[in-house]
Amino acid sequence: MPYLQMKEFLNDKIFKIISQVADEDNVDVFVIGGYVRDIILKRPSKDIDIVVIGSGIDIATNVAKRLGSNVNVTVFKNFGTAMLRCGNYEIEFVGARKESYRKNSRKPIVEGGTVQDDQNRRDFTINALAISLNDKNFGELIDPFDGVADLERKILRTPLNPDTTFSDDPLRMFRAVRFAAQLNFRIDDVAYESIQKNKERIHIVSYERIIEELNKILLSPKPSIGFKIMENTGLLSEFFPELAMLKGVELVEGRAHKDNFYHTIEVVDNLRKKTDNLWLLWAGLLHDIAKPKTKKFVKDIGWTFHGHEFLGAKMIPRIFTRLKMPLNDKMKYIQKLIQLHLRPIVLSQDIVTDSAVRRLLFDAGDDIDDLMLLCEADITSKNEKTVRKHLSNFRIVREKLVELEEKDRLRNFQPPISGELIIKTFDLKPGPIIGEIKNAIKDAILDGEIQNEYNEAYAFMLKKGEELSLKRK
Ligand code: ATP
Repeated sequence: MPYLQMKEFLNDKIFKIISQVADEDNVDVFVIGGYVRDIILKRPSKDIDIVVIGSGIDIATNVAKRLGSNVNVTVFKNFGTAMLRCGNYEIEFVGARKESYRKNSRKPIVEGGTVQDDQNRRDFTINALAISLNDKNFGELIDPFDGVADLERKILRTPLNPDTTFSDDPLRMFRAVRFAAQLNFRIDDVAYESIQKNKERIHIVSYERIIEELNKILLSPKPSIGFKIMENTGLLSEFFPELAMLKGVELVEGRAHKDNFYHTIEVVDNLRKKTDNLWLLWAGLLHDIAKPKTKKFVKDIGWTFHGHEFLGAKMIPRIFTRLKMPLNDKMKYIQKLIQLHLRPIVLSQDIVTDSAVRRLLFDAGDDIDDLMLLCEADITSKNEKTVRKHLSNFRIVREKLVELEEKDRLRNFQPPISGELIIKTFDLKPGPIIGEIKNAIKDAILDGEIQNEYNEAYAFMLKKGEELSLKRK
């Protein structure tokens, strides 16, 4: 097949330089993996992997010398790899490897090997393509597993028996899901069944690596593709049972609730169309996480999930701890969005009052726009009339938000009267009464009784003091 065709994709001078250095050193070199795949898929790619039948570090060092004194090589001695940057490219050099695996580790025993050995250890046929760079066969594609045909057919297939590939390194199961979502490819049937069979093997993979793949799935054009596969193969319940528990519909007295798993992934798809904020996508994924725990059938009313927004927010730290996710301001942001996710809808079901919108603005602060995106994405009803009604109500909420924000500057509310001033004015000792006065001032502002400014707030404080029979100093 198409060795001439591949040559035309290697026009960048870096490939010529690598070729010359390799010929001088008398070793064979190849471009391999994702870069070759992406050439054929016409996806721009900045990471180039070079496999060397010999020392990757030596070739990298000599290529850097050829490129000039300002090029640095980063050497990872333990891994036998070296990396350098050239223009926009990040190029990694590694010696060809033959790998064998032990039962309880995804770290293989590695020895030197041929290019075919190196292709054998790759995860998918589409990632096992190599192009020769030596002058004698520059541009020749080596495709031992029919990877090009799989690219055309949009199929993910493992080069070896999938049971071996997945059991050796179970992270590859998540990579399969990730590529399926990113490229909209199908995992071939044998590999799919093998994931079902080997799903328990993921427990030898660190959560950090799994989450890396999960984040890529969330950022893929249609994340639901990945979540459906994970649910269907059983991978999801292995590492994220809370999410898997959302699946299912219960019927009592002829009334069913919606399937919260499918609803959730639809919300994530909706959000993905509007944002590339990974943490907002996480909030979408987790917004209904407490629904199974709060579910109740109430006679004459139907299914209720009372308080799922509060319990959901509370469940997050434990989930994040288990998944080795950061327990930082990103987590707090997600908790806040979960806790507030019903507010705009509740508010828009009634007459949208200024006071309710002010409170929402006060509670959401700078995250108000993300909260509105989440709430709009949360409308997944199949009834077009319902969807239209909700969206139009949200439009009113949004208009009011802008109007009140301009007028009252509540987004990052700073109380116009400090606790210290209250203490000084009434000669008080620190105590709960100060909080009470501060809250009363805040409520008065949010209810629109007074403006968010010093003079009105000061007068209000004096009035409140009188009510509480406090004496002015
Ligand atoms: P992306 O850059 O989008 O993450 P990629 O395929 O380039 O995709 P990398 O993680 O950079 O992904 O891996 C480069 C190549 O290394 C892959 O194309 C594949 O051939 C190989 N590879 C990576 N991880 C594994 C693995 N766990 N098992 C087998 N081969 C792998």
